[in-house]
Amino acid sequence: NDNLTLRARALPLQGGSRVLSVRDISEGMQLQKTRKAFIANASHELRTPLTVLTGYMELFENDPELPAHLLPPLQQSREQAARMQQIISDMLALSRLESQETTPIKGNRIDVPALLESSIQAIRDTLASETHLLEADIEPGLCVCGSEKDIASIITNLLANAVKHTPAGTHIHIRWQGSGDGEVCLSVEDNGPGIPQEHIPHLTERFYRVDAGRSRASGGTGLGLAIVKHVMQWHNGSLTIESKPGRTVFRACFPSERVLD
Ligand code: ADP
Repeated sequence: NDNLTLRARALPLQGGSRVLSVRDISEGMQLQKTRKAFIANASHELRTPLTVLTGYMELFENDPELPAHLLPPLQQSREQAARMQQIISDMLALSRLESQETTPIKGNRIDVPALLESSIQAIRDTLASETHLLEADIEPGLCVCGSEKDIASIITNLLANAVKHTPAGTHIHIRWQGSGDGEVCLSVEDNGPGIPQEHIPHLTERFYRVDAGRSRASGGTGLGLAIVKHVMQWHNGSLTIESKPGRTVFRACFPSERVLD
């Protein structure tokens, strides 16, 4: 029966014999599938009307006959619409990642140093240049196998977080190095105020923020680290978070170390 998925477990009994416990988990799996499909479809459907709304807002904003008092609320509305667009795009990314199987990715070699260079440059050009000091140690030649788009999203999320969630003057140190035991790791370290320990286990949960108001104000969706966790799982890697006042490190380690030809 295609619709039946059984989970079997051998339970030990006294005297060395065993009993087999069998449970039908197909209904739960089906519900989960339906829920994921609903999130993916809803996000997709929301995109088009939002694009139309944003287009009209831009049109009105640029109208020379627009009464001056209407400009600030119009600009605010457009900013909120842009936020919604970002949330929808993160929700779509997350639902795509969740519906993928966790399998080792073979073949597609990603030149992570090149990706890092361009992400660092992009962040230098925008947010960070004035307020944050970025330093990078990138070991050349180290690459991993996987999805370029997803690995780029890890880099962007971790870098953007180090900028968004720390005050002006913070130093950010980015490293891409082999760990010596067959792993290659991206770490993003900042000397910001740190994250209280009780929050650390929850940071990769969807929409979890230490300070929701500040996160929203800085343009966060609350989905960045959930995306990073899923990308790492999909690449058979790991994400570790260490923090104390004055030192926060996010480390994403990939299982294999490969050298570019
Ligand atoms: P957000 O969109 O809010 O950045 P994330 O999932 O990326 O969502 O991060 C979750 C929360 O983790 C953030 O709201 C913030 O409270 C905390 N956080 C992430 N990175 C840092 C950092 N480098 N320093 C301090 N707090 C951080």
